[in-house]
Amino acid sequence: METDRNLRHKRAMKRRKAHVDSRIAAATEDRGLLLVLTGNGKGKSSSAFGMLARSVGHGMRCAVVQFIKGTWECGEHLLFAEHPLVEFHVMGTGFTWETQDRESDIAAAKQAWSKAETLLADESVQLVILDELTYMLTYGYLDKSAVLETIGTRPSRQHVVITGRNASRELLEIADTVSEVKDVRHAFNHGVKAQKGLDY
Ligand code: ATP
Ligand code: MG
Repeated sequence: METDRNLRHKRAMKRRKAHVDSRIAAATEDRGLLLVLTGNGKGKSSSAFGMLARSVGHGMRCAVVQFIKGTWECGEHLLFAEHPLVEFHVMGTGFTWETQDRESDIAAAKQAWSKAETLLADESVQLVILDELTYMLTYGYLDKSAVLETIGTRPSRQHVVITGRNASRELLEIADTVSEVKDVRHAFNHGVKAQKGLDY
């Protein structure tokens, strides 16, 4: 009985390996990618910072522009701000629903975007994370077509990761990899305050 099961497992694994190997052999392209992490669930920015950690681990030059400055400084900023391989910019304003000042939000968004533009023209920067950029487009703080154009004409080997809810159709269209994080449950909605190390 067990022997049968082991044999079936071995055969199934062999088929699986052949399938995986053929897919690996078919993936021959090597170029800079645009990733979009969107959806209402938790895990977008932390995933982007996970890729930052991976890239830094490989000795790659990286940059982050955070388009929303949270109430608390995030652990990733504390870890990476002084790192020699990372250039880290945080937009100089709070959450929009806190400031409620559209004019100053727009000015701050434009200033942060000008940092992003410089990075997106620099081929020595191998990974650029544009955290919470989607809101700047949904609120109309930045010109969508100019943003798409700059991303589309960046150095061919540069990776870009964009996070934020409600990514626009046009952004999804030009992305190579898109993940939508689904909200199944979040402790905050059950009375638990934001937890250091998990939420910021
Ligand atoms: P994280 O930075 O933890 O990966 P995120 O980038 O996916 O989260 P954002 O929408 O940027 O999510 O929100 C950031 C903060 O809001 C984090 O503290 C996160 O835990 C919290 N959060 C994310 N999704 C939800 C949700 N569905 N309900 C309540 N709080 C959430
Ligand atoms: Mg986020």
